[in-house]
Amino acid sequence: MPLKERVLVVEDEKSIGHFVATVLTSNNYDVIVAHTGAEALAMVTSQSPDLVLLDLGLPDMDGTSIIKTVRSWSRLPIIVVSARMHERDKVEALDMGADDYITKPFGPSELLARIRAAIRHAGAAEAFPGAAPAEKYQVGDLVIDYDKRQVLVAGVNVRLTQNEYRIIALLGRHAGRVLTYDYLLREIWGANPRGDNQILRVNMANIRRKIEKNPAEPQYIFTEAGVGYRLWEGD
Ligand code: CA
Repeated sequence: MPLKERVLVVEDEKSIGHFVATVLTSNNYDVIVAHTGAEALAMVTSQSPDLVLLDLGLPDMDGTSIIKTVRSWSRLPIIVVSARMHERDKVEALDMGADDYITKPFGPSELLARIRAAIRHAGAAEAFPGAAPAEKYQVGDLVIDYDKRQVLVAGVNVRLTQNEYRIIALLGRHAGRVLTYDYLLREIWGANPRGDNQILRVNMANIRRKIEKNPAEPQYIFTEAGVGYRLWEGD
């Protein structure tokens, strides 16, 4: 029997911690719980978890400082748990190196899907360090061919501008993960001192018009309100 994956749940609210621990345990994860930031940091070192589920509002320290500390020496996957209203926190957490976030209140299936995806991404990076990146990304009818710098929908070549291609290629390289507006702006246009999303929104509207059946209800590129965009990774 394969070893169970160990999840460190960092949560000071007992009811949420209990709910999460129950869901994960019954889905064959090995669960350890920390109620403070100090406990969490100690357990990351002593218990070697495979993933950290991190509540940002902790009694003794800001959750983002835990991300910063862990990221200074480890690529351990971190999923941040945040309240719906705190978009700025999510962005900050992602920019600091969190892998993903989940918004309270959340259900078991969403929680499990996020955890599976984060562990899978981490495992893929570890299994083939320095391996050549994939030549293609394919999901549903969408194909991103990085070699030919082409995007196809149902086999038909989509005519994209350079920047439109660069945006979708970047999302494809990180499929399933949220890329923040700031990250995309920096990668495509360089420094963006005004923090202006307009140029990105215009490009995204064009991409969606070209690849989505119904741009108002995108099937491939999802908007994470106030945070960024995520490319569908398949079911
Ligand atoms: Ca809390």
